[in-house]
Amino acid sequence: MTTTQVVNPATEQVVTTLELLGAAETDAAIERAQRAAAGWREVAPGDRARLLRRFAEAVDANLEQLARLEVANAGHTIGNARWEAGNVRDVLHFAAGIPERLLGNQIPVAGGVDITFHEPLGVVGVIVPWNFPMPIAAWGFGPALAAGNAVVLKPAELTPLTAIRLGELALEAGVPEGVFQVLPGKGSVVGQRFVTHPAVRKVVFTGSTEVGKQIMAGCARQVKRVTLELGGKSANIVFADADLERAAATAPYGVFDNAGQDCCARSRILVQRSVFDRFLELLEPAVRGVRVGDPADEATEMGPLISASHRARVASFIEPSTKVAFTGTQPDGPGFWYPPTVVLPDAPSDRLLTEEVFGPVVAVVAFEDEADAVRIANDTEYGLSGSIWTNDVGRALRVSRGVEAGNLSVNSHSSVRYWTPFGGFKQSGLGRELGPDAALAFTETKNVFIAT
Ligand code: NAD
Repeated sequence: MTTTQVVNPATEQVVTTLELLGAAETDAAIERAQRAAAGWREVAPGDRARLLRRFAEAVDANLEQLARLEVANAGHTIGNARWEAGNVRDVLHFAAGIPERLLGNQIPVAGGVDITFHEPLGVVGVIVPWNFPMPIAAWGFGPALAAGNAVVLKPAELTPLTAIRLGELALEAGVPEGVFQVLPGKGSVVGQRFVTHPAVRKVVFTGSTEVGKQIMAGCARQVKRVTLELGGKSANIVFADADLERAAATAPYGVFDNAGQDCCARSRILVQRSVFDRFLELLEPAVRGVRVGDPADEATEMGPLISASHRARVASFIEPSTKVAFTGTQPDGPGFWYPPTVVLPDAPSDRLLTEEVFGPVVAVVAFEDEADAVRIANDTEYGLSGSIWTNDVGRALRVSRGVEAGNLSVNSHSSVRYWTPFGGFKQSGLGRELGPDAALAFTETKNVFIAT
């Protein structure tokens, strides 16, 4: 059996050593899930709801422990980590409303009665990245379980600890054995078996666009359902008529939250030319003011990057010719630190404007007018998120409709709410998670005609 060391990215200390599952163990788990799925779909809707509510309550009772585990494993600030554990609880409570409300239709037809059912798929495989280990896992397993599926979940190699704990809490809450299993392992082993094993009927993948394309191609061989949540290069568009002070004060948090390791990071700031210089003047103290340091400290706003190799990748984007406007701070000593960094690219083809850095680096560019802003915002293969700052409500709506992205916010930087649909346009993904239709992504619609 292979093992892996889980490292605290803020201290570089080993937190624990863990066994990784191989292909045979993965197959055994998938087959257990298949058997468990048959029973789970027969559990009365009210009882399934009750079990999910108990799971939510178990998460709530262990919220601080889960949060501390994420601080140690992923270097998330304690404030963020508490929000993330709370999000799992909330997603489960929301999912608990699903079993009793999974309504079909009765459709008027000639000669009989026609009804539709939302049937569970069977076994669903959820593959999770390291940047938000808890919420991203829950957005998959919450509604999938609610709709009557069994779930096998593979956490990222770097961040398995909270997912493993969530698996234990599900069992403690009474979710039957085999219905929700957490399988730590490599993407190329455990993740690949989700793609190739015929009993897994759907793969929910969150991660890089590159791996997402391979998953989609692999799933095509069995016409396996997929939801893909991939990369982003989102724009924060600031118009001259906006509340410039607020736009500048909040811009760092729209991109540097979670040290920029956020698929929704607004890593391009587009500023109307007439206020460009003024905006940069306001942005500088805001960036320098971001509190970077020990993630366990309640006052910290930004922690370290996830690993040494990821830090090297982020650093590789800053070349000797890169125009760096200013940077924030970073602590000395051990830890995979990188300071908040603001760059001014010269050309639209600059990789800092086209590629996802996935670190605390933001590029600022000028635009002329509304049409120019939308053109630049859409000049990317990605389309996940974005923000629009303006005090003109008509413009806010026009630009919102014009930007090709799945999740936009006006005069704020919010992307994810469990009540609302989340997902990407273009190469940022396929399908939607969360929101009122969350369960439908985990069911097949069956139509039944009964002759009368
Ligand atoms: P990654 O693609 O390297 O890995 C993601 C997961 O896939 C991991 O669990 C990994 O083990 C697994 N995996 C890797 N190769 C695989 C394979 N061949 N078959 C099956 N599984 C495989 O991504 P990462 O570096 O962990 O995460 C960062 C990326 O995730 C960024 O691009 C980011 O934008 C994206 N992301 C997207 C969203 C979203 O909702 N759109 C959210 C968070 C992160």
